[in-house]
Amino acid sequence: MGIRGEVEGAQAEIRRRNLSRLLQELHVSRPLSRSELAARLHLDRSTVASLVSELAARRIVQERRRSKSIPQSPGRPSPVVELRADGPGALAVDLATDWMGAAVVGLGGKVMASTRRDVSLCNSQPEKVVEDLGALVRPLLASLENGPRIVAIGVSVPGLVRSGDGHVHEAPALGWRDVPIRELIRDEFQDLNVPVFVGNDADLATSAEHLRGSGRGTTDFICIWGEGGLGAGIVVDGRLLAGSAGYAGEVGHVTVDPDGDLCHCGARGCLESVVGEEALLRRSGRDPLGGTAALEDLIGAADRGDQAALSALAESGRGLGIGIAGLVNIFNPNRVSLGGLYARVYPYVRAPILRELEKRAMPAPRAMVDLVTVRLGANALLLGAAELALAPLLNDPAIMPLQQEPAPNDAIDTAEALASAAHGMLAQG
Ligand SMILES: [Zn+2]
Repeated sequence: MGIRGEVEGAQAEIRRRNLSRLLQELHVSRPLSRSELAARLHLDRSTVASLVSELAARRIVQERRRSKSIPQSPGRPSPVVELRADGPGALAVDLATDWMGAAVVGLGGKVMASTRRDVSLCNSQPEKVVEDLGALVRPLLASLENGPRIVAIGVSVPGLVRSGDGHVHEAPALGWRDVPIRELIRDEFQDLNVPVFVGNDADLATSAEHLRGSGRGTTDFICIWGEGGLGAGIVVDGRLLAGSAGYAGEVGHVTVDPDGDLCHCGARGCLESVVGEEALLRRSGRDPLGGTAALEDLIGAADRGDQAALSALAESGRGLGIGIAGLVNIFNPNRVSLGGLYARVYPYVRAPILRELEKRAMPAPRAMVDLVTVRLGANALLLGAAELALAPLLNDPAIMPLQQEPAPNDAIDTAEALASAAHGMLAQG
């Protein structure tokens, strides 16, 4: 490649990166005017105009005039750039221990429609689960004629997922081992003809909470997710920690009691086997596999001041505090967020967790960390699955085909230029 080719290649790369930054900005904030975009991205207005025009030609964004004009500004009010409701979107799927859920999610994290079926997926057959998922999702897709164009499918699974190919190595809560879930789902939704991405539930919840929920604005964030098992997602310096194959963050399987109960993973005394849902229910005298109903019953008893329920919860809080203290010492997070089961029992576990942190975390990192609960609720998993599915598009918006030629200098810009030129002439004259 000659120098000219190299320069052109570098320019194309800069443009691709700027298109991605602009779309990412709209994805995490609100509709913004071109000048707001220019200021936030440190780009000049003509570059922003050209990037917006390309995203519009790919039918990802559109421009709309603000309804109220700003009285001080000369000429017409500046139009805002917004994400199109019929632009690209994802089909998000959540396979949990006690339910399967799905949603169509547009850019900007907008849930356009969602559905859910309460069904136990414990010891389920993956092929049957995917077939049932197909039956659940078809009506959802049919209900959205003018909704987003589905460009990818994102799937949340409570287990170890290999990031390269979406292979579920192990999902103890579902009784799955070596399941090619990505292929199964791609076959079921063959007609959509879109790529499928699979992620670990706690990792996906963490990325959604980091982007739009309790972790927003933090650089170092940990989300502990208890739903059936116990998982965690760890954000280090703004990025989700994946490990070499995507298996990182299995906080639930750190040994806290060498002679403790046998865990689903085959080891003894893992944090999950001490403070997970089953352990909590067993300790309170309930059926460890009682699921949501047993858990509601336990919380109801605690609300009434039942001593057995309160002490079972306090014991779980203590174990959780021991686990969190270790994480605080290793990762020095700004914030630790509790989700799933732990968000529901938070009022009962907060004090014992803080007590253990006081005892076991080093004073300096402990003083920096906030303990909170998730903000996105059960939607965190679906929003996280959608983020995973939309990541390639956000990284390179040019994968959406051009539907029309991008305008070199579009109408709004010309009108504004004329208005400001006229204003200038009046001021001079
Ligand atoms: Zn384990």
